[in-house]
Amino acid sequence: MKKIIFLIIAGVIFTIAMSGKEENMVSIEPISHASMVLKWGGAIIYTDPVGGAGAFAGQPEPDLILLTDIHGDHLDIETLEALAKEKTVIISPMAVAEQLPSSVAGTLLVMKNGERTNKKTSQKINLSGFSIEAVPMYNLPGPSLKFHTKGRGNGYVIEKDGMRVYISGDTAGIPEMRALQDIDIAFIAMNLPYTMDVEEAAEAVLDFKPQKVYPYHYRTPEGYSDVAKFKEIVNNKNPAIEVVQLNWYSNNK
Ligand code: ZN
Repeated sequence: MKKIIFLIIAGVIFTIAMSGKEENMVSIEPISHASMVLKWGGAIIYTDPVGGAGAFAGQPEPDLILLTDIHGDHLDIETLEALAKEKTVIISPMAVAEQLPSSVAGTLLVMKNGERTNKKTSQKINLSGFSIEAVPMYNLPGPSLKFHTKGRGNGYVIEKDGMRVYISGDTAGIPEMRALQDIDIAFIAMNLPYTMDVEEAAEAVLDFKPQKVYPYHYRTPEGYSDVAKFKEIVNNKNPAIEVVQLNWYSNNK
């Protein structure tokens, strides 16, 4: 009898936990390459919006904009001038903040690698209930090293009600990525020569085991990385990781 009671209680707890997660659903709209719109718990988050206001036509105004780095596929002042509103909180590393003119609306929060928002931060600015951690993104020694030096750009872990979303930014399969824990959704860049090849991306993902992984930022100078191969490597070694392929490059964006 004791065993039956335990199972019933466990079942109730499981149901509550699941319904909490469902209300905390993240809907993902790829705009192009590194630009996307996340709709999450009533809030709107843009990442690295570039391509002009037209690329975001029909999208709701952003509560948060996360900027990872200074390159043109991540930072475009004209797009930010058009999209950022007074209510918008823009989060960026210092190298990006230094390039933002006062004509970009909203509140700027500068974060360094390793910093995370806390209660004090959210008393000062409205983070729409999210906590944000800025994580390193950089190239390892080799031919790609010159593109992303350690400390300049930020990847991000965004968290709300126990759901954790990781946005890699332009990075190799660095130890800090491999050590991430409890990631529900991961966006992983994979394009040589700027970030990493699909093999390295797959190995890194196998190390930190997100529940779901979305290849993004996979355009190369010659075309696109072999994202099908990425999925094959990941799922051959760990079928439990769901690899989700979205259309990031419709209309040759
Ligand atoms: Zn990039």
